[in-house]
Amino acid sequence: MNRVVVRYGELSTKGRPVRRNMEEQLRSNLAAALDARDIDGEVERTAGRLIVETDATDAAADAASALPGVVSASPARAVAPEAETIYDALADLARERADEFDTYAVRASRAGDHPFTSPELEREGGAAVGEAVDAAVDLEDPDMTFEADVRHQVAYVFAERREGPGGLPVGTQAPLVALVSGGIDSPVAAFEAMRHGSPVIPVYVDLGDYGGVDHRARALSACERLAERAPNHDLRPYVVDGGASVDHIADHVDRGRMLSLRRYFFAVAEAIAEQEDAAGIVTGEALGQKSSQTARNLQVTSAAVDTPVHRPLFSADKPEIVERAKDLGTFEDAGISAGCNRLAPDKPETKGRLEGLLKVEPDDIFERAKEDAAGAERVDI
Ligand code: ATP
Ligand code: MG
Repeated sequence: MNRVVVRYGELSTKGRPVRRNMEEQLRSNLAAALDARDIDGEVERTAGRLIVETDATDAAADAASALPGVVSASPARAVAPEAETIYDALADLARERADEFDTYAVRASRAGDHPFTSPELEREGGAAVGEAVDAAVDLEDPDMTFEADVRHQVAYVFAERREGPGGLPVGTQAPLVALVSGGIDSPVAAFEAMRHGSPVIPVYVDLGDYGGVDHRARALSACERLAERAPNHDLRPYVVDGGASVDHIADHVDRGRMLSLRRYFFAVAEAIAEQEDAAGIVTGEALGQKSSQTARNLQVTSAAVDTPVHRPLFSADKPEIVERAKDLGTFEDAGISAGCNRLAPDKPETKGRLEGLLKVEPDDIFERAKEDAAGAERVDI
């Protein structure tokens, strides 16, 4: 193997200049990802694909398939676009992986002028594999699919497609501030924003006596997982010392406490968004997931800020979010104790109304939010 073929999806439907920019963004993201993993390789844009020239095809394919915008990546062998050469390469590949399959199929795709057709390649290529190893053709449900992707000047031969997250490359949208608690939901929500092009600026609010050091640790480790998916963007989180403000809220607000807390979070996030010229706020909230996330309560909390609040998990079910957290690598840490339940009142509000909350909520929480945001430190991860 000497190449990795990297495929992308959505961006191939955009108009030409937009698409060019997006491809260039993905190319530089991938080059940075290889760098971050100490993989030597050159990334090149070719018609509809990125090609990595490298000896470390396995590691490079893993790096590529972690990046937003990538649909799939295949360790491949680049050979001359001639029929016999392609059949030999298919047979070699089949021998290398002989103990991994009993049934197989050969698929070919072709662009350019060649003295052969794709069906011909599939038929003859299939025969070459059959001679090389002891296995049977199964076009319906093969254990392994060998593929030849034949272009003008070169043919790529490969036997696997490692799935990527799809979406759009990070950096093709304006940045967003992501409120990250380190629980199950918020890292997944932040990644959804990244998966559609926005670099995120993570913000973690330390709840003081209501939080804990392990809270902070799990939030930072979630941010690390996010940063790995966009090594050429600045994903260092802001850690906000919210302890005093949270105590203040807890002293004054009982039933609607979690709503005022969220309103304070949003105000902190808005202040940081202004400072960073970010285009909005992302949270891990989902409709009805907990008492602070009823439709009424989302209305009351969103009213705290003018900046748009995005909720990529709005309609996602918990088991689905858990699966995505596992894929992202943030599920394990989310298991660490969730002490902030101490802050929740016995009878939390589920049908919050702004007029009612404003009667008890201290007026100064927004001023405090600005001050707390201004004092926040951006930490290295
Ligand atoms: P998560 O939603 O992160 O899994 P959770 O479900 O325990 O954790 P909620 O109480 O549902 O958190 O909080 C709703 C949203 O508020 C979170 O998804 C996150 O965006 C934000 N949030 C909660 N706590 C914090 C915090 N300490 N710092 C920053 N953002 C937070
Ligand atoms: Mg949640």
